[in-house]
Amino acid sequence: MLDWTRRTFLGAFSGLAATSLAAQQERGSSIAGKRPARGSIKITDLRCAIIGRNPVVRIVTDQGISGYGEAESTKPYLKPMVLFYRDYILGEDPTDVERVLLKIRRLGAFKPWGSAVSAIETALWDIAGQAAGVPVYKLLGGKIRDRVRTYNGGVRFPMTGHSPADYAENTARMKESREGFTLIKQAVGFHNQGMMNAVSDGWYGEARAGAPHPNRGLMTERGLSHVIACVEAMKKVLGDKVGLALDCGPGWAVKDAIAFARALEPFHITWLEDLLTGDYTPYVDADVYRDLKQSTSIPIHTGEQIYLRQNFKDLIEKRAVDVVGPDPADCGGIAELKWIAEYADLHSILMAPHGIFNGLFGLAAQVQAGAAMPQNYIAFEYPLGQPEWWYEIVEGLPNPIVQNGFIDVWDRPGLGVTFNVQAAKAHLSDEDRNFFD
Ligand SMILES: [Mg+2]
Repeated sequence: MLDWTRRTFLGAFSGLAATSLAAQQERGSSIAGKRPARGSIKITDLRCAIIGRNPVVRIVTDQGISGYGEAESTKPYLKPMVLFYRDYILGEDPTDVERVLLKIRRLGAFKPWGSAVSAIETALWDIAGQAAGVPVYKLLGGKIRDRVRTYNGGVRFPMTGHSPADYAENTARMKESREGFTLIKQAVGFHNQGMMNAVSDGWYGEARAGAPHPNRGLMTERGLSHVIACVEAMKKVLGDKVGLALDCGPGWAVKDAIAFARALEPFHITWLEDLLTGDYTPYVDADVYRDLKQSTSIPIHTGEQIYLRQNFKDLIEKRAVDVVGPDPADCGGIAELKWIAEYADLHSILMAPHGIFNGLFGLAAQVQAGAAMPQNYIAFEYPLGQPEWWYEIVEGLPNPIVQNGFIDVWDRPGLGVTFNVQAAKAHLSDEDRNFFD
């Protein structure tokens, strides 16, 4: 058994994992989970179903273990991208996560290809954990916290309008949500077209629509003042009890971004996200972010759309931002997120992973990664199961999931959540009806 362990966990974090597994096996531990026969587990299929709007990846093995990964609900078109990788991984040992990833990681890219790779990576870790009988966090080096903080990006209420009073009222409702979040994120500026359109001529540019966050340009005094007034109103509601982070762009002119940040300095904003680039921007503009970061005391944040550690290198080594927000469903997966977190920590940069659209398996992936992240970890963005029936088809989540803004880390093998197959089958489309077979 020790030989099997050594052979199969020579991945990025294998030293610690192998040590802990070996010790456990020598003790004759009997942690629940299906273990493959000695030295033998192979991938026999890679499937993808769109459940609700979330693409779900299932990796099937010859040992009765399946692993699941989930991509954002904004990508219901992802199935062909996932299946593109199928032939590359068939026959591989899924517990050699890194060796499998060496075949497909370089065939990824910024969204959507990297999202497909990320969901496959997560499903591999789910299998590796189940095969070893341990939670995924053990394979990432082990748990350094028993509960992970999550921030509210997803528990939302309809807006009544776009005046400062409307934002105050909306933020008050978020503050009172039963999850007790200690940190709330709100959309402002070009990330919130309703707010920008609430004043006439808010910026020197033509209003565009029909694509995610298409506007950019220099703000007018009226436009910038309105955004600042909305932030001030939200901050008054939260006081110093609950932190306020702002998702801002992309699209701000650098000087506007600096003026905005400086105007907000008295309000102790937790971070300003994606002022310059972000969301779907398929490149990293580290030098300009560095100019912004050095001009204000408010933490500057970016990174949710970036694929792979290599594309965080400039941001981190130039210390161009204060916080990075890789999304495990886009950056390359769970271990990629952990790698970025460690490298960021070496450069005194904080971590606040993105995740609002990642669904319940995405939530589980965040909990596993969050348990093992270094002390630069702030919180991950809380995703919901949508539609509501998602909570009936996934087993293993705590109830309630969030208490006082935290999620207790569970200890079941793999991701520690799985499908209630019978319940889930009712929500498969005809095209995906064999997904669980
Ligand atoms: Mg964002």
